[in-house]
Amino acid sequence: VSREIAVVGGGPAGLMAAEMLSATAHRVTVYERMPSPARKLLMAGRGGLNLTHSEPIERFVARYGRDDAARRHMAAAIEAFSPAALIAWAEALGQPTFKGSSGRIFPKAMKASPLLRAWLRRLDRQGVRLLTRHEWTGWVEDGALTFRREDGSAVGVRPDATLLALGGASWPRLGGSGAWLPLLAARGVATRPFEPSNAGVEIGWSARFAERFAGTPLKRIALTCGGVRAVGEAMVTRRGLEGNAVYALSEPIRRSLADDGKAELTLDLRPDLGHEALTERLSRPRDKQSLSTFLRKAAGLPPVAIAVLREGSTAPLPSDAAALAARIKALPLAVRGLAGIERAISSVGGVALEAVDERFMLRALPSVFVAGEMLDWDAPTGGYLLQATLATAVAAARGIEAWLGERGA
Ligand SMILES: Cc1cc2nc3c(=O)[nH]c(=O)nc-3n(C[C@H](O)[C@H](O)[C@H](O)COP(=O)(O)OP(=O)(O)OC[C@H]3O[C@@H](n4cnc5c(N)ncnc54)[C@H](O)[C@@H]3O)c2cc1C
Repeated sequence: VSREIAVVGGGPAGLMAAEMLSATAHRVTVYERMPSPARKLLMAGRGGLNLTHSEPIERFVARYGRDDAARRHMAAAIEAFSPAALIAWAEALGQPTFKGSSGRIFPKAMKASPLLRAWLRRLDRQGVRLLTRHEWTGWVEDGALTFRREDGSAVGVRPDATLLALGGASWPRLGGSGAWLPLLAARGVATRPFEPSNAGVEIGWSARFAERFAGTPLKRIALTCGGVRAVGEAMVTRRGLEGNAVYALSEPIRRSLADDGKAELTLDLRPDLGHEALTERLSRPRDKQSLSTFLRKAAGLPPVAIAVLREGSTAPLPSDAAALAARIKALPLAVRGLAGIERAISSVGGVALEAVDERFMLRALPSVFVAGEMLDWDAPTGGYLLQATLATAVAAARGIEAWLGERGA
């Protein structure tokens, strides 16, 4: 039986659910507040569009926070729409993929626009209506969803089922601001405040350092916080650091800031060299070389790494080789805070996972389902965000299908 389904939010979660539900002959309308859909997906495409990751599924699902119950909920959705299923889906949209050296999966096109174009064509063929410039503003007394249109006028709709796929609260200028949170909380839905995740950190660089090195990458470094170590890259910004090695530590950094009001990163500028090997190199005669030249030649450190060594501490660099090696391998950096949510890759907070049942239907609001980043899960970068976004959308679409089926013709 064909039913009327409202999908609110035209990001990847909303589009995936719309694709599935329209394939089974339901009438699906996607309501999107921006003038065009999936702006965050297009932004993700600028970084090559890391779709998913090739690691074994047990390791993959262990990436998801925030607690065991949340992890189990996410694991069920991801096992039902696995990384392999996501790759097959992208390839069927004409986007062959490849595995990068780190095991991450990208479309060969290294951007989102061709995938999005093919996807929107498919949705159009399947009869999905896409209404842009329609901002969901809540429900009216009689239960109808209300939308504000561009001219300020309001329109109400009463679908058989609703999927909310409004996204998280990072990068609000791309569409998702999290402004819906109080609307759901007022209806008895368990919600948590938004916080940045996969965000840069703020470090009190000297003006001189920030001026000279903002935009310079620290390549092949390792960062440690709260016992978690991440090897990768970090980019110096005016206010601190960003990049995959920093994002991977979002959770311990956030926890430490919340518990102690401060956090510390330990930076290893030569993770591929042991302390002894580095000490040996630094024991070579320095002759008349300046310390910078010596560090560049003997320890292979680029200018940004040498400057950061001097930033990390007010004490002069030790002259003893072993002490210098120790500084290079474990430089403490005091973190002042996480960079703002408006520049974070993702956010945590939103609809608590315990607020939805195993079909992703809100326990407090039957007929209303939720998917994507508006749910309170957390994961590092590496393809885990889009995988979870799409997998929860598939689970919610199947949930809608089953729920409508149970309610009969
Ligand atoms: C810079 C950047 C790079 C990224 N790179 C990657 C990557 O490489 N790999 C990866 O896995 N993930 C990446 N991500 C994360 C990924 O883009 C998100 O996880 C994903 O877009 C979440 O999808 P979503 O559909 O849940 O939400 P969104 O993509 O945020 O979509 C939600 C939609 O709902 C609309 N909306 C919000 N409120 C309303 C309302 N009231 N009424 C109507 N419409 C509304 C919004 O306008 C938006 O279009 C990146 C994110 C950023 C910011």
